[in-house]
Amino acid sequence: MTAETIFVGTELLLGNIVNTNAAYLAEQMAVMGFPMFYQTTVGDNAERLEGCIRQALDRSDLVILSGGLGPTQDDITKETAAKVMGKELLLNEDAKKQIEAYFAKKGKTMAENNLKQAMMPKDSMMLENTNGTAPGVIMEQDGKILVLLPGPPEELNLMFERSVVPYLQSKVSQVIYSAMVKVCGMSESDVAQQLDDLIRSAGDVTVAPYAKIGEVHLRVTAKAEDEKQAKKLVKPVIKDIKARLGDAVYTTHEEISLEQSVVDLLLANNLTVTTVESCTGGLLAGRLINVPGVSEIFKMGHITYSNKAKRKIVGVKRKTLEKYGAVSGQVVKEMVGGVLQITRADVAVSVSGVAGPDGGTPEKPVGLVYIACSVCGTVTVQECHFSGTRRKIRESAVAAALVLMRRCIMAYCSKVTFGENK
Ligand code: ATP
Ligand code: MG
Repeated sequence: MTAETIFVGTELLLGNIVNTNAAYLAEQMAVMGFPMFYQTTVGDNAERLEGCIRQALDRSDLVILSGGLGPTQDDITKETAAKVMGKELLLNEDAKKQIEAYFAKKGKTMAENNLKQAMMPKDSMMLENTNGTAPGVIMEQDGKILVLLPGPPEELNLMFERSVVPYLQSKVSQVIYSAMVKVCGMSESDVAQQLDDLIRSAGDVTVAPYAKIGEVHLRVTAKAEDEKQAKKLVKPVIKDIKARLGDAVYTTHEEISLEQSVVDLLLANNLTVTTVESCTGGLLAGRLINVPGVSEIFKMGHITYSNKAKRKIVGVKRKTLEKYGAVSGQVVKEMVGGVLQITRADVAVSVSGVAGPDGGTPEKPVGLVYIACSVCGTVTVQECHFSGTRRKIRESAVAAALVLMRRCIMAYCSKVTFGENK
């Protein structure tokens, strides 16, 4: 069954909003094993939208639309799609009740124009919107399927997972199961090289790498008659990936982030942590604080952006700054030393770098970042070279700091365990 997607909205064509729904739906289609050859974006224009829907239905079995289901005059997706499918729009009492309930929950009364959203094409399936007012729609005709979803991503994602996935699974004889392997501290090309045969394999199990900043995610997908069979196919491949990549694999759980894995390590080993940041300006602390429960181990972080702040707050020596410069291994080492004096944490991390776009020199180019990590007295310093925009360099530095923390904590814990076992 081939699939394609159509995104409705003039604001998408003008570049006012980024089409994140395109990436989301494309990934979902890939995970579910529907081949997809086209994506179209079209403005809020009935004639052109009608042309797009007709063309898509001509060449694909499943067409998913996003956007234009709202109550206003420029929301025309449902009306246009119903016209193409030759279905009239009728008031749907369930939809009306759901929309009224949504407004009641918010303590508001439903506006007259919201009734437009309760109109459903004849013989269509209504998809409940638990995050907004516009219900989704599924229409079937002559072996073709048309799915209409609301534009706001939080509404679309939830509706897709809750209603569309089970519906599509019931349409295909095979079940698709996928698992995630998350890798850090390795480049995408290194990962691809180590797993070359698995990634190229056209067998029952596919391994698809996705590069993220400082990480590589691997989606392992299998098709089988039932979920049990599919899981059985995926399991040995995950084991194989773990054996090849070793400690670089930080989780096989979709929902676990890199910062979560670092915080879990700290919590499991009862280690408190502190940060002192220059070019990342609090981003590292921010990522750690993303994790619920981090308050057990993170009490305080510092941003020491200027040289003066580095001297006054964390006691970096003036001489060190003069001799080696703020972006140097010596300075990040003194930054962790100083912050440990203040917080007495078990683990301290410092970051200093040239985020650009200005300020680079031949010796200290844009993208040069030093990170230091101290775990119970052992300090490790790392020199990194990143490229890209200021924002990308800062995010790369944060990811590298998390990876270094993970590596240092694991090294410390294995030493402690080894010592205890002796
Ligand atoms: P509403 O009831 O909010 O009007 P709708 O289904 O009519 O929902 P649109 O009017 O097309 O959807 O879009 C509403 C908002 O949803 C947009 O302003 C934008 O913030 C977001 N949105 C729409 N399409 C996309 C997309 N393809 N990717 C990301 N966000 C989108
Ligand atoms: Mg709208």
